[in-house]
Amino acid sequence: MSPDLSLLVRAGHPVIAIESTDEDRALAMVAAMAAELPRPLTDWSLTKGLREVNCSTLVFGNVLSQPGPPAAALEHVLRSADHSIHVFRDLGPHSRDAKVHRLLRDFPNVGRERQATLILLESQPLPADLRRLALLHEIGWPSAAELEQVVRETYQRIKAASLYEVTSRVTRREMEQLIQALRGLTLSEAERVVASAIHQDHALRGDDLPRIIETKRKLLGSTGVLESVAADFDSNDIGGLENLKRWLTQRRDGYSQRARDFGLEPPRGVLILGVQGCGKSLCAKVVAADWKMPLLRLDPGQLYQKFIGESERHLRDALRQAEAMAPVVLWIDEIEKAFASATGDSADGGLSQRMFGSLLTWMQDHRHPIFIVATANDISRLPPELLRKGRFDEVFFVDLPNRAARERILAIHLERRKRQPDQFDLARLAEQTEGYSGAELEQLILAGLYNAFHAGVELTTAHLNQQREGTRSLAEMMPERLAQLRAWAADRCVPADE
Ligand code: ATP
Repeated sequence: MSPDLSLLVRAGHPVIAIESTDEDRALAMVAAMAAELPRPLTDWSLTKGLREVNCSTLVFGNVLSQPGPPAAALEHVLRSADHSIHVFRDLGPHSRDAKVHRLLRDFPNVGRERQATLILLESQPLPADLRRLALLHEIGWPSAAELEQVVRETYQRIKAASLYEVTSRVTRREMEQLIQALRGLTLSEAERVVASAIHQDHALRGDDLPRIIETKRKLLGSTGVLESVAADFDSNDIGGLENLKRWLTQRRDGYSQRARDFGLEPPRGVLILGVQGCGKSLCAKVVAADWKMPLLRLDPGQLYQKFIGESERHLRDALRQAEAMAPVVLWIDEIEKAFASATGDSADGGLSQRMFGSLLTWMQDHRHPIFIVATANDISRLPPELLRKGRFDEVFFVDLPNRAARERILAIHLERRKRQPDQFDLARLAEQTEGYSGAELEQLILAGLYNAFHAGVELTTAHLNQQREGTRSLAEMMPERLAQLRAWAADRCVPADE
């Protein structure tokens, strides 16, 4: 139960609003509080009307006002001369009705007089007029203890109802990981995710974890600014970037209790700068997959395009959601684009400067297991504060792949298209592709495959060579920009490859 909510009610706030899709949990919290105070509880919804509620058992009793628009129920509440707590679910959409509007405005005085409380439980953001009337209370996300209870209850429920034998083999450590993976979900969502993992093989096991993370990813989908991204890679899918990969591997257990007991600070994040198409984005995916953490992609550009006038609130919400889902890898893609005008005189009334400031403060202050992977191509638009010591654990520079990396990248992409790398002269091809980015090497293979397919023959080194001869590498196309980038990075960044 939220002690704050109890405090607000006891302090005599007549109208309190809770915005949450976790309706069952919010009602359970209100009921627990009503039982403790103790105060009678009623519950209204459009479909069920106004009903008495037994606070201890959460069983509904007498119907005090029939289902239908809320005016009659509000009149009943205003007439009843007791100190009840009245929960109204999804009243917001009805508040435009003139009578409902008036009754709601009458409530605070009556409520104060009789020590009665109206709790608005809203699944959608509250309309502006109700926002002024009510005190907003946040119930936060389910705690670890609540999530563990859901895991246990879901398992017991399925076991009891199943015709098959349902087993559970979860160590204490796996249970902790499971609960961490469920964070950021409502209780009913967590229940669905756990149930689907159990139904899959009639068992709850430690190795259900990747499936749970994947189901959660699908469930959360995209929230506009924060997108949950599939991370089905491992570090063998990246050619080169050996220094960066080693650095990441060393920090894999950085959030564990063992690391803390050893005296280590939890890792905070990396900034990966460099040449386009050379695997920066891949790195974000590999960290998440390798560290068994969900990957959230924050697209700061969306903050401006999608939510004009509300950018700051959406940035705050996105960061709060990342906190609730922690441990997570938070990938801030093309960080320079979003905060570009924070570098100079901004033409947006200081918005990007303020947003950038909020992000920096948050990065400094938050204490959640959130590993940030920020990627950027254009160093000239990067605010210098971002590079200051302490913001990121390390700043890496990703250059064009060297010969060994090129050979590996070619092999990776051939294997991905079900071809045997040893059937090709990759050593020679790697030698001849100096100046190509990873994305261009992949493109060689894709285009070669199309040629072979069109000619009705199997892919050979000759097809790849033919493609190579017809394309210009990135190094050829933008030599000055590359030289500039390298000179800039030389004394500011650690090379991502050896
Ligand atoms: P951008 O800055 O343009 O977003 P990026 O550096 O983030 O580029 P990626 O998106 O990671 O580059 O790379 C594009 C594609 O090129 C990848 O999906 C991958 O298929 C291929 N690729 C690039 N670099 C590598 C690499 N080092 N190993 C394997 N594949 C690579």
